[in-house]
Amino acid sequence: TEDFLRKSEKLAVLGQLAAGIAHEIRNPLTSLKGFTHLLKVNATPEESEYYQIMLSELERINTIVGEFMMLAKPQPKNTKRNDLRKILQEAASLLEAQANLHNIQFVMDFDVNLEIDCEADQLKQVCINLMKNGMEAMEESGGLLFIKAIHQEDTIIVSFKDEGCGIPKEQLNHIGEPFYTTKEKGTGLGMMICNKIMENHNGLIEIESELNQGTTVKLVFPK
Ligand code: ADP
Ligand code: MG
Repeated sequence: TEDFLRKSEKLAVLGQLAAGIAHEIRNPLTSLKGFTHLLKVNATPEESEYYQIMLSELERINTIVGEFMMLAKPQPKNTKRNDLRKILQEAASLLEAQANLHNIQFVMDFDVNLEIDCEADQLKQVCINLMKNGMEAMEESGGLLFIKAIHQEDTIIVSFKDEGCGIPKEQLNHIGEPFYTTKEKGTGLGMMICNKIMENHNGLIEIESELNQGTTVKLVFPK
């Protein structure tokens, strides 16, 4: 029998539905968090510990739902000329406090004229996800996170190089699969979001890694 909706249309409907549900989960979650906070204030130390666990689990649901909503977002329609330098600087300043806390320093190096057609908010999300991964890889040791953006032939390349734990060869292929994570508190959605956004911008992601030395993640944009 002929399908009523073509596959791509079905997927789009499913995506919208999923995004709608994710959005609806957010509101009750907010009130759950609020009331749990209130209960915690008047709780015994033992109860307080349980409420704290509830709060961090609620926060976890919030993160997963937020990342899921990002995946369900439609293709960018409002692309504009944007300066990559500004996007990278904004992403870095959002993470600066957390970096200081773990003895991590950003080292930035940018060419001039780094303008590309993109949706700035989406690219900022990619940069934040990659910087976070770099920082999380160095959380124990501290270290430098090199953020570089250069012109190379007919592309612009943005690279994030950390001095962290690195990625074993056999794990490289799994990065970007939904829910693939090696972290206790990870969601395994960050790289999938990055891949999707880069695809929408006709770009791609390359990963190079050396175990116990560090990882370099490159974004390649067509000019
Ligand atoms: P999450 O960060 O929630 O685990 P991601 O999709 O962002 O999910 O990353 C998936 C996995 O890829 C991580 O759990 C980690 O194992 C690996 N990874 C990604 N970036 C790095 C990095 N810079 N250094 C080491 N491992 C990384
Ligand atoms: Mg991540």
